[in-house]
Amino acid sequence: MSQTKVRVPFLDLPAQYESLKHEIWPAVQGVVERSQFILGPAVDSFEKNFAAYCGAKYCLATGSGTDSLHVAFLAAGIGPGDEVITQANTFVATLEAIAYTGARIVLVDVAPPTYTIDVDAVRNAITPKTKAIVPVHMFGQPCDIDAIYDLARERGLLVVEDASQAHGAEFNGRRIGSRGVASWSFYPGKNLGAYGEGGGVTCDDEAFLQKMRELRNHGGLKKYEHDVLGYNYRMDGIQGAVLDVKLPHLEGWTEARRRAAARYDGLLGGVARPDVPSHVRHVYHIYPVFVEGRDSVRAALSERGIETNVHYPIACHLQKAYSGLGYAQGAFPHSEYVASHELSLPMFPELSDEQIDYVAEALHEVL
Ligand SMILES: *Cc1c(COP(=O)(O)O)cnc(C)c1O
Repeated sequence: MSQTKVRVPFLDLPAQYESLKHEIWPAVQGVVERSQFILGPAVDSFEKNFAAYCGAKYCLATGSGTDSLHVAFLAAGIGPGDEVITQANTFVATLEAIAYTGARIVLVDVAPPTYTIDVDAVRNAITPKTKAIVPVHMFGQPCDIDAIYDLARERGLLVVEDASQAHGAEFNGRRIGSRGVASWSFYPGKNLGAYGEGGGVTCDDEAFLQKMRELRNHGGLKKYEHDVLGYNYRMDGIQGAVLDVKLPHLEGWTEARRRAAARYDGLLGGVARPDVPSHVRHVYHIYPVFVEGRDSVRAALSERGIETNVHYPIACHLQKAYSGLGYAQGAFPHSEYVASHELSLPMFPELSDEQIDYVAEALHEVL
Protein backbone atom coordinates (compact mmCIF):
# COMPACT_ATOMS: atom_id res chain seq x y z
CA MET A 1 0.00 0.00 0.00
CA SER A 2 1.24 3.48 -0.85
CA GLN A 3 2.65 5.61 1.94
CA THR A 4 0.68 8.72 1.07
CA LYS A 5 -2.47 8.95 3.12
CA VAL A 6 -5.45 10.06 1.05
CA ARG A 7 -8.15 11.75 3.10
CA VAL A 8 -11.49 10.26 2.13
CA PRO A 9 -14.54 11.79 3.82
CA PHE A 10 -17.77 9.81 3.97
CA LEU A 11 -19.64 12.63 2.26
CA ASP A 12 -18.38 15.94 0.85
CA LEU A 13 -21.15 18.53 0.89
CA PRO A 14 -18.73 21.51 0.73
CA ALA A 15 -17.44 20.19 -2.64
CA GLN A 16 -20.98 20.16 -4.00
CA TYR A 17 -21.62 23.65 -2.66
CA GLU A 18 -18.48 24.95 -4.41
CA SER A 19 -19.79 23.75 -7.77
CA LEU A 20 -23.23 25.31 -7.18
CA LYS A 21 -22.74 28.53 -5.28
CA HIS A 22 -23.06 30.79 -8.34
CA GLU A 23 -26.58 29.38 -8.81
CA ILE A 24 -27.62 28.98 -5.18
CA TRP A 25 -27.12 32.53 -3.96
CA PRO A 26 -29.23 34.36 -6.56
CA ALA A 27 -32.07 31.88 -5.91
CA VAL A 28 -31.87 32.29 -2.13
CA GLN A 29 -31.54 36.05 -2.49
CA GLY A 30 -34.74 36.13 -4.56
CA VAL A 31 -36.69 34.41 -1.79
CA VAL A 32 -35.29 36.71 0.86
CA GLU A 33 -35.83 39.91 -1.13
CA ARG A 34 -39.45 38.95 -1.84
CA SER A 35 -39.72 37.73 1.79
CA GLN A 36 -41.53 34.57 0.64
CA PHE A 37 -40.23 32.52 3.51
CA ILE A 38 -42.90 29.81 3.82
CA LEU A 39 -44.16 27.87 0.75
CA GLY A 40 -44.54 30.45 -2.07
CA PRO A 41 -43.42 30.39 -5.72
CA ALA A 42 -40.03 28.71 -5.17
CA VAL A 43 -41.72 25.79 -3.40
CA ASP A 44 -44.52 25.64 -6.02
CA SER A 45 -41.91 25.44 -8.75
CA PHE A 46 -39.95 22.71 -6.99
CA GLU A 47 -43.15 20.69 -6.39
CA LYS A 48 -43.97 20.80 -10.11
CA ASN A 49 -40.42 19.95 -11.18
CA PHE A 50 -39.90 17.15 -8.69
CA ALA A 51 -43.24 15.52 -9.59
CA ALA A 52 -42.22 15.61 -13.26
CA TYR A 53 -38.79 14.18 -12.41
CA CYS A 54 -40.44 11.24 -10.62
CA GLY A 55 -43.05 10.65 -13.29
CA ALA A 56 -45.81 11.54 -10.79
CA LYS A 57 -48.68 13.96 -11.30
CA TYR A 58 -48.24 15.84 -8.04
CA CYS A 59 -45.76 16.60 -5.29
CA LEU A 60 -46.49 18.09 -1.89
CA ALA A 61 -43.41 19.70 -0.32
CA THR A 62 -43.13 19.40 3.47
CA GLY A 63 -40.83 20.23 6.34
CA SER A 64 -39.10 16.81 6.46
CA GLY A 65 -39.25 13.19 5.38
CA THR A 66 -40.87 12.34 8.70
CA ASP A 67 -43.60 14.97 8.13
CA SER A 68 -44.11 13.50 4.67
CA LEU A 69 -44.68 9.97 5.89
CA HIS A 70 -47.04 11.19 8.60
CA VAL A 71 -49.10 13.43 6.32
CA ALA A 72 -49.41 10.65 3.72
CA PHE A 73 -50.58 8.16 6.38
CA LEU A 74 -53.14 10.65 7.72
CA ALA A 75 -54.46 11.49 4.25
CA ALA A 76 -54.87 7.74 3.70
CA GLY A 77 -57.05 7.60 6.82
CA ILE A 78 -54.65 5.44 8.82
CA GLY A 79 -55.33 5.60 12.54
CA PRO A 80 -55.93 3.68 15.76
CA GLY A 81 -57.06 0.09 15.20
CA ASP A 82 -55.19 -0.20 11.88
CA GLU A 83 -52.03 -2.15 11.20
CA VAL A 84 -49.23 -0.91 8.97
CA ILE A 85 -46.53 -3.26 7.72
CA THR A 86 -42.94 -2.10 7.26
CA GLN A 87 -39.46 -3.58 7.49
CA ALA A 88 -37.24 -4.00 10.55
CA ASN A 89 -34.19 -2.48 8.90
CA THR A 90 -35.09 1.08 8.11
CA PHE A 91 -34.33 4.47 9.60
CA VAL A 92 -36.44 4.87 12.74
CA ALA A 93 -38.50 7.72 11.22
CA THR A 94 -40.51 5.18 9.21
CA LEU A 95 -41.73 3.67 12.50
CA GLU A 96 -42.21 7.04 14.19
CA ALA A 97 -44.61 8.27 11.53
CA ILE A 98 -46.72 5.11 11.81
CA ALA A 99 -46.75 5.43 15.60
CA TYR A 100 -47.91 9.10 15.39
CA THR A 101 -51.14 7.94 13.69
CA GLY A 102 -51.97 5.53 16.52
CA ALA A 103 -51.81 2.54 14.15
CA ARG A 104 -49.97 -0.62 15.16
CA ILE A 105 -46.52 -1.15 13.63
CA VAL A 106 -46.12 -4.63 12.15
CA LEU A 107 -42.54 -5.45 11.17
CA VAL A 108 -41.21 -7.95 8.63
CA ASP A 109 -37.68 -8.96 7.65
CA VAL A 110 -35.65 -8.24 4.55
CA ALA A 111 -34.45 -11.10 2.38
CA PRO A 112 -31.04 -11.91 0.93
CA PRO A 113 -29.45 -11.70 -1.57
CA THR A 114 -30.79 -8.15 -2.18
CA TYR A 115 -31.65 -7.40 1.47
CA THR A 116 -34.81 -5.60 0.37
CA ILE A 117 -38.24 -6.18 1.97
CA ASP A 118 -39.33 -9.84 1.97
CA VAL A 119 -42.56 -9.85 -0.06
CA ASP A 120 -43.60 -13.30 1.18
CA ALA A 121 -43.18 -12.11 4.76
CA VAL A 122 -45.37 -9.11 3.96
CA ARG A 123 -48.05 -11.45 2.55
CA ASN A 124 -47.92 -13.58 5.71
CA ALA A 125 -48.19 -10.52 7.96
CA ILE A 126 -51.46 -9.25 6.43
CA THR A 127 -54.48 -9.48 8.76
CA PRO A 128 -58.02 -8.08 8.46
CA LYS A 129 -56.71 -4.97 10.28
CA THR A 130 -53.90 -4.26 7.80
CA LYS A 131 -54.37 -0.95 6.05
CA ALA A 132 -51.06 -0.19 4.35
CA ILE A 133 -47.66 -1.53 3.33
CA VAL A 134 -44.63 0.74 3.68
CA PRO A 135 -41.66 -0.68 1.76
CA VAL A 136 -38.38 1.22 2.13
CA HIS A 137 -35.95 1.52 -0.79
CA MET A 138 -32.98 1.31 1.57
CA PHE A 139 -29.56 2.56 0.47
CA GLY A 140 -31.10 3.73 -2.83
CA GLN A 141 -31.83 0.18 -4.01
CA PRO A 142 -35.47 -0.33 -5.00
CA CYS A 143 -37.25 -3.33 -3.49
CA ASP A 144 -39.48 -5.52 -5.68
CA ILE A 145 -42.01 -2.72 -5.81
CA ASP A 146 -44.09 -4.24 -8.62
CA ALA A 147 -44.71 -7.35 -6.48
CA ILE A 148 -45.66 -5.11 -3.53
CA TYR A 149 -48.22 -3.20 -5.62
CA ASP A 150 -49.61 -6.48 -7.04
CA LEU A 151 -50.05 -7.82 -3.52
CA ALA A 152 -51.61 -4.56 -2.30
CA ARG A 153 -54.11 -4.50 -5.17
CA GLU A 154 -55.03 -8.13 -4.59
CA ARG A 155 -55.67 -7.46 -0.87
CA GLY A 156 -57.13 -3.94 -1.14
CA LEU A 157 -54.26 -2.25 0.71
CA LEU A 158 -52.56 1.09 0.28
CA VAL A 159 -48.83 1.39 -0.46
CA VAL A 160 -46.78 4.32 0.83
CA GLU A 161 -43.21 3.91 -0.41
CA ASP A 162 -40.52 5.32 1.86
CA ALA A 163 -38.28 6.64 -0.92
CA SER A 164 -36.19 8.87 1.36
CA GLN A 165 -32.96 7.26 0.09
CA ALA A 166 -33.97 6.60 -3.53
CA HIS A 167 -34.27 9.82 -5.57
CA GLY A 168 -34.12 8.81 -9.23
CA ALA A 169 -34.07 5.05 -8.60
CA GLU A 170 -35.90 2.78 -11.05
CA PHE A 171 -37.42 -0.69 -10.97
CA ASN A 172 -38.20 -2.53 -14.22
CA GLY A 173 -37.39 0.67 -16.12
CA ARG A 174 -39.87 2.79 -14.16
CA ARG A 175 -39.00 5.56 -11.72
CA ILE A 176 -39.69 5.19 -8.03
CA GLY A 177 -42.51 7.63 -7.29
CA SER A 178 -44.38 6.95 -10.54
CA ARG A 179 -46.61 4.14 -9.23
CA GLY A 180 -48.68 5.67 -6.40
CA VAL A 181 -47.76 7.38 -3.15
CA ALA A 182 -44.07 7.85 -2.32
CA SER A 183 -42.50 9.79 0.55
CA TRP A 184 -39.20 11.65 0.17
CA SER A 185 -36.66 13.25 2.46
CA PHE A 186 -34.48 16.17 1.40
CA TYR A 187 -32.33 16.05 4.53
CA PRO A 188 -28.95 17.62 3.56
CA GLY A 189 -27.09 14.30 3.26
CA LYS A 190 -29.69 12.63 1.02
CA ASN A 191 -29.04 12.32 -2.73
CA LEU A 192 -31.14 15.46 -3.23
CA GLY A 193 -30.58 17.54 -0.10
CA ALA A 194 -31.82 20.93 1.08
CA TYR A 195 -29.84 23.41 3.18
CA GLY A 196 -31.92 22.46 6.20
CA GLU A 197 -34.89 20.15 6.72
CA GLY A 198 -37.17 19.22 3.84
CA GLY A 199 -39.42 16.47 2.54
CA GLY A 200 -42.13 15.68 0.02
CA VAL A 201 -44.85 13.26 -1.04
CA THR A 202 -45.48 12.37 -4.68
CA CYS A 203 -48.86 11.01 -5.79
CA ASP A 204 -51.28 10.85 -8.72
CA ASP A 205 -54.58 11.36 -6.91
CA GLU A 206 -55.80 14.95 -6.71
CA ALA A 207 -58.20 14.34 -3.81
CA PHE A 208 -55.36 12.74 -1.84
CA LEU A 209 -53.14 15.74 -2.63
CA GLN A 210 -55.81 18.18 -1.42
CA LYS A 211 -56.19 16.30 1.87
CA MET A 212 -52.43 16.44 2.39
CA ARG A 213 -52.40 20.18 1.51
CA GLU A 214 -54.91 20.88 4.28
CA LEU A 215 -53.10 18.73 6.83
CA ARG A 216 -49.79 20.44 5.97
CA ASN A 217 -51.24 23.89 6.63
CA HIS A 218 -52.98 23.82 10.02
CA GLY A 219 -55.94 21.89 8.66
CA GLY A 220 -57.18 24.41 6.10
CA LEU A 221 -56.35 26.12 2.82
CA LYS A 222 -58.10 29.42 3.50
CA LYS A 223 -56.41 31.69 6.01
CA TYR A 224 -57.87 31.26 9.51
CA GLU A 225 -60.37 28.59 8.41
CA HIS A 226 -59.52 25.19 9.85
CA ASP A 227 -61.58 22.23 8.65
CA VAL A 228 -59.61 19.39 10.23
CA LEU A 229 -56.95 18.89 12.88
CA GLY A 230 -53.84 20.02 11.02
CA TYR A 231 -50.11 20.40 11.39
CA ASN A 232 -47.39 22.85 10.45
CA TYR A 233 -45.61 20.66 7.90
CA ARG A 234 -44.76 23.36 5.34
CA MET A 235 -41.51 23.71 3.41
CA ASP A 236 -39.50 26.94 3.72
CA GLY A 237 -39.16 29.11 0.62
CA ILE A 238 -35.36 29.02 0.87
CA GLN A 239 -35.36 25.20 0.86
CA GLY A 240 -37.66 25.18 -2.18
CA ALA A 241 -35.27 27.52 -4.00
CA VAL A 242 -32.18 25.45 -3.09
CA LEU A 243 -33.84 22.18 -4.13
CA ASP A 244 -35.07 23.67 -7.39
CA VAL A 245 -31.52 24.78 -8.22
CA LYS A 246 -30.15 21.33 -7.35
CA LEU A 247 -32.76 19.17 -9.11
CA PRO A 248 -31.40 19.62 -12.68
CA HIS A 249 -28.02 18.35 -11.40
CA LEU A 250 -29.43 15.21 -9.79
CA GLU A 251 -29.11 12.95 -12.83
CA GLY A 252 -25.44 13.89 -13.24
CA TRP A 253 -24.78 13.25 -9.55
CA THR A 254 -26.60 9.91 -9.73
CA GLU A 255 -24.52 8.82 -12.73
CA ALA A 256 -21.37 9.82 -10.83
CA ARG A 257 -22.50 7.73 -7.84
CA ARG A 258 -23.23 4.78 -10.13
CA ARG A 259 -19.80 5.08 -11.76
CA ALA A 260 -18.18 5.17 -8.32
CA ALA A 261 -20.20 2.11 -7.26
CA ALA A 262 -19.21 0.22 -10.42
CA ARG A 263 -15.55 0.97 -9.67
CA TYR A 264 -15.97 -0.28 -6.08
CA ASP A 265 -17.74 -3.40 -7.45
CA GLY A 266 -14.81 -4.12 -9.72
CA LEU A 267 -12.26 -3.72 -6.94
CA LEU A 268 -14.09 -5.43 -4.08
CA GLY A 269 -14.24 -9.01 -5.32
CA GLY A 270 -14.64 -11.35 -2.33
CA VAL A 271 -16.20 -8.68 -0.11
CA ALA A 272 -19.84 -9.51 0.84
CA ARG A 273 -22.50 -7.03 -0.20
CA PRO A 274 -26.13 -7.03 -1.34
CA ASP A 275 -26.90 -8.31 -4.84
CA VAL A 276 -28.07 -5.65 -7.27
CA PRO A 277 -30.25 -7.20 -10.00
CA SER A 278 -29.91 -5.76 -13.50
CA HIS A 279 -33.57 -4.63 -13.65
CA VAL A 280 -33.02 -2.06 -10.88
CA ARG A 281 -31.38 1.35 -11.12
CA HIS A 282 -29.68 1.64 -7.75
CA VAL A 283 -28.85 5.28 -6.91
CA TYR A 284 -26.30 4.45 -4.18
CA HIS A 285 -27.35 6.79 -1.44
CA ILE A 286 -25.20 4.33 0.50
CA TYR A 287 -22.57 1.85 -0.76
CA PRO A 288 -22.91 -0.99 1.79
CA VAL A 289 -20.56 -3.90 2.37
CA PHE A 290 -20.90 -6.64 5.00
CA VAL A 291 -17.83 -7.34 7.13
CA GLU A 292 -16.92 -9.38 10.21
CA GLY A 293 -15.46 -7.42 13.11
CA ARG A 294 -16.94 -4.21 11.83
CA ASP A 295 -15.80 -1.94 14.64
CA SER A 296 -12.14 -2.83 14.24
CA VAL A 297 -12.43 -2.58 10.44
CA ARG A 298 -13.87 0.92 10.85
CA ALA A 299 -11.12 1.92 13.25
CA ALA A 300 -8.39 0.62 10.92
CA LEU A 301 -9.90 2.49 7.96
CA SER A 302 -10.18 5.62 10.07
CA GLU A 303 -6.44 5.37 10.86
CA ARG A 304 -5.85 5.42 7.11
CA GLY A 305 -7.88 8.61 6.75
CA ILE A 306 -11.06 6.90 5.52
CA GLU A 307 -14.34 7.93 7.07
CA THR A 308 -17.11 5.30 7.12
CA ASN A 309 -20.57 4.96 8.64
CA VAL A 310 -23.09 2.33 9.71
CA HIS A 311 -26.74 2.27 8.53
CA TYR A 312 -27.91 1.38 11.12
CA PRO A 313 -26.23 -0.27 14.12
CA ILE A 314 -29.46 -1.40 15.89
CA ALA A 315 -32.40 -2.90 13.99
CA CYS A 316 -35.65 -1.05 14.73
CA HIS A 317 -37.30 -3.91 16.63
CA LEU A 318 -34.38 -3.93 19.10
CA GLN A 319 -34.49 -0.17 19.78
CA LYS A 320 -35.58 0.64 23.31
CA ALA A 321 -38.36 2.95 22.11
CA TYR A 322 -40.00 0.04 20.25
CA SER A 323 -39.57 -2.72 22.84
CA GLY A 324 -43.33 -2.43 23.39
CA LEU A 325 -43.92 -4.00 19.98
CA GLY A 326 -42.80 -7.26 21.58
CA TYR A 327 -40.25 -8.48 19.04
CA ALA A 328 -37.30 -10.41 20.50
CA GLN A 329 -33.70 -10.71 19.38
CA GLY A 330 -33.70 -13.21 16.51
CA ALA A 331 -37.16 -12.15 15.25
CA PHE A 332 -35.70 -10.74 12.00
CA PRO A 333 -32.33 -12.43 11.44
CA HIS A 334 -31.48 -10.74 8.13
CA SER A 335 -32.19 -7.26 9.47
CA GLU A 336 -30.09 -8.13 12.50
CA TYR A 337 -27.30 -9.36 10.22
CA VAL A 338 -27.34 -6.03 8.38
CA ALA A 339 -27.30 -4.15 11.69
CA SER A 340 -24.27 -6.06 12.93
CA HIS A 341 -22.24 -6.34 9.69
CA GLU A 342 -23.09 -3.38 7.45
CA LEU A 343 -20.35 -0.85 6.74
CA SER A 344 -21.07 2.17 4.54
CA LEU A 345 -18.07 3.15 2.41
CA PRO A 346 -17.48 6.75 1.29
CA MET A 347 -20.00 7.58 -1.43
CA PHE A 348 -20.75 10.94 -3.03
CA PRO A 349 -20.72 12.25 -6.60
CA GLU A 350 -17.36 14.03 -6.31
CA LEU A 351 -15.53 10.89 -5.09
CA SER A 352 -12.42 10.48 -7.27
CA ASP A 353 -11.06 7.28 -8.82
CA GLU A 354 -7.94 7.77 -6.71
CA GLN A 355 -10.03 7.87 -3.54
CA ILE A 356 -12.04 4.78 -4.54
CA ASP A 357 -8.89 2.81 -5.35
CA TYR A 358 -7.36 3.86 -2.04
CA VAL A 359 -10.48 2.80 -0.07
CA ALA A 360 -10.68 -0.57 -1.85
CA GLU A 361 -6.98 -1.27 -1.32
CA ALA A 362 -7.21 -0.29 2.34
CA LEU A 363 -10.31 -2.42 2.90
CA HIS A 364 -8.63 -5.53 1.40
CA GLU A 365 -5.56 -4.89 3.52
CA VAL A 366 -7.61 -4.48 6.70
CA LEU A 367 -9.73 -7.57 6.01
C1 LIG B 1 -33.93 10.14 6.10
C2 LIG B 1 -35.00 9.14 6.22
C3 LIG B 1 -36.27 9.44 6.75
C4 LIG B 1 -36.59 10.71 7.48
O1 LIG B 1 -36.37 11.86 6.83
P1 LIG B 1 -36.15 13.24 7.63
O2 LIG B 1 -36.14 14.23 6.51
O3 LIG B 1 -34.85 13.14 8.34
O4 LIG B 1 -37.30 13.42 8.54
C5 LIG B 1 -37.25 8.45 6.73
N1 LIG B 1 -37.00 7.24 6.23
C6 LIG B 1 -35.78 6.89 5.74
C7 LIG B 1 -35.59 5.52 5.19
C8 LIG B 1 -34.75 7.83 5.72
O5 LIG B 1 -33.55 7.47 5.24
